[in-house]
Amino acid sequence: MKAAVWYNNRDIRIEEVPLRRPGPREMLVKVISCGICGSDIVEWYRLPRAPLVQGHELGAEVVEVGGSVARYRPGDRVFIAPKVPCGTCSYCREGHFPQCSEIKERLPGGFAEYILVPEVLVEKGTYLLPESISYDQSTFIEPLACVVRSQRLAGLKEGQSVLVLGCGMSGLLQIQLAKTKKCAVVATDVVEKKLGYARSFGADLAISAAEDVPKCLTDHLRKKADVVMVCSSAMSAVKQAWACVDKGGATVFFAVPEPEKTVTIPVNDFWTKEVRILTSYYCGPPDVQEAMRLLAARAIDVDRMITHRLPLADIVRGFRLVMSGEEAVKVIIKPHAKAGMVG
Ligand SMILES: [Zn+2]
Ligand SMILES: [Zn+2]
Repeated sequence: MKAAVWYNNRDIRIEEVPLRRPGPREMLVKVISCGICGSDIVEWYRLPRAPLVQGHELGAEVVEVGGSVARYRPGDRVFIAPKVPCGTCSYCREGHFPQCSEIKERLPGGFAEYILVPEVLVEKGTYLLPESISYDQSTFIEPLACVVRSQRLAGLKEGQSVLVLGCGMSGLLQIQLAKTKKCAVVATDVVEKKLGYARSFGADLAISAAEDVPKCLTDHLRKKADVVMVCSSAMSAVKQAWACVDKGGATVFFAVPEPEKTVTIPVNDFWTKEVRILTSYYCGPPDVQEAMRLLAARAIDVDRMITHRLPLADIVRGFRLVMSGEEAVKVIIKPHAKAGMVG
């Protein structure tokens, strides 16, 4: 089968890779849709495992199951989590699923025609898609689950105010989810087109990151933000987060600057103001379930976020689109689509 092997962001090769039949507890799925995630283009994060086949935002169809797999059958439409926690270790028991010490196996990447799903992911990582979630919508399950988790960790409550720094795919999901909780949402970005998206997805105010954001907040909300979601890796966003979080509020690092950058925390100021600083990384099974519930209920509009659907052969273009961050929001790779068949 064909797979897109990622060496770095400028070197992604369509290679012929061997595919074997599933063992008794494995299954073979056909990748129908796989989204390019903002984290796929973060080289410092991905390079240690390169070369690799990326792609973890999946919508797939079961084509063959091993003899001992009873729960799924050919034709089933599924989402598969890229890795699953054990559910019993001390981290899992505390709800820190992404820290599970037992996670060993990862799903082979979805930028390929097929995936041989390992036993543990057949058992615990596969979710049947309801009729109401299409393959393309399925590519939003994992990113939305991460957003669900971040807002839960922040303790975001109905009626609070949120500042979303960065209006890429994750930022737009943050905006939409916060609006389902009737929060006041202010969003910033450096790209004017993204601000337009932010408004159309419900942001009460979307302003250039170059503006005096703390002043805009106090003008608009009469105080700073209860929760600041950092959805950009720019250092300027970190500084802005410090300046925009209200007393008793929380700043959440949904994205982080590169590892060689040093972040300075105004800890004395935050000490007296009781400001919390949180990180949110990946998601857990309850977040996946909540994301599926939101998508099935049409509470989050993801269709309008899809700007590009590309065949596997055009994956380099897809990565370039996501890297430039100018015109693309969500780019979906369709491994079985012929060139010209998707748009
Ligand atoms: Zn992702
Ligand atoms: Zn665990």
